Amino acid sequence: MKSFLKNLRYAGQYTLLLGTGLWLLTACGREKSSQYQSVDTAMGTVIRQTVYATQDASEIMAGIRREITTLEDEWISRRKKSSQIYQINAQSGSEKGIDVPEYLLQMLENIFQVSEESGGTLDITIGEAVRLWNIDEYAVLDGSGSADVKEVQEFQVPAREALAQALERAGYEKVKTEGEKIYLPQGTTLDLGAVGKGMACDEVLGYLKEQPAVQGAVITIGGSILTYGQKPEGGAWKVGIIDPRDTDGYMGRLVLEGQWCVSTSGDYERYVEKDGVRYHHIIDPSTGYPADAGLISVTILSRDGWLSDALSTACFVLGAEKSVALLEKYDAYAVMVEKDGNIILSPGMEQYFRAE
Ligand code: ADP
Ligand code: MG
Repeated sequence: MKSFLKNLRYAGQYTLLLGTGLWLLTACGREKSSQYQSVDTAMGTVIRQTVYATQDASEIMAGIRREITTLEDEWISRRKKSSQIYQINAQSGSEKGIDVPEYLLQMLENIFQVSEESGGTLDITIGEAVRLWNIDEYAVLDGSGSADVKEVQEFQVPAREALAQALERAGYEKVKTEGEKIYLPQGTTLDLGAVGKGMACDEVLGYLKEQPAVQGAVITIGGSILTYGQKPEGGAWKVGIIDPRDTDGYMGRLVLEGQWCVSTSGDYERYVEKDGVRYHHIIDPSTGYPADAGLISVTILSRDGWLSDALSTACFVLGAEKSVALLEKYDAYAVMVEKDGNIILSPGMEQYFRAE
């Protein structure tokens, strides 16, 4: 858990309070809006909320948390039997097709379109290969390189043959949708790990829009961040981008007005280092191995959470050069860090990015 606290932060301003139910209240001047903060966990990651509201925001913050856990439990969890994705995966191979509720079908079609446009670098059917690597289990959890040595010694690079077999069952292009149904080949499963936190940002946005007491908010869900509305005292939101090789610090920040989503995929988030090689959690679907397109961190700025999250994974696998065309298609912007520390801004990002 510790690691996620370091993923992405607002460029350091507040003291963090750990634990559910601890609120920090600060008076914010004339407009009677106050700041409320909380940190807790959901979706296997850390959720940090800063909400500016004209009334006590405890219930609103609990509501935000509920949106996130409902998305996980009822829609996208791969492990919980209660979820739609679990039920869909359990029916893989069904010849008559699998019924999918409108919301999810639309989302899956959107994701497959990103797969198509990105040359298959985002592929939500490669879960089996992801699990062969099992990076999550061994990952250096505090991002400082101080993993439990025994655990890392136990880490095994999966057999080439096993990866090849897993990739045979994968392939988004083999999945078809028609009407309200999806057709999944036998043994092919869906894993929304690469887009789930961004989708959660979208759900939270819908909820916030129904809360007249909320003037502004910054909600961090693992590597995805939603900014919404305004601060009572005015001024832009500042979203810090972690330095991928000094994860206690920032390499820059995004200065944002109003509603945005920011997602980062980096090779420092979850990885194992063995025999001098870093194995991270973003897999190139064309090889089954951790992506190695020259980038170590990609931060995407978009209006939509699912899209910023989808593109962060896709661009990481795609590499900087090819990502630029993809980003233009989706009206999104990126800060990409190359292995040598070089920072690349996609066209348009210079309006928002400030180096530290
Ligand atoms: P995080 O989960 O830390 O927010 P990402 O958004 O980059 O990071 O998603 C990475 C997760 O997505 C991995 O942990 C894995 O479950 C899954 N994944 C890895 N590579 C791919 C890929 N090429 N396409 C789709 N999903 C992927
Ligand atoms: Mg992603």
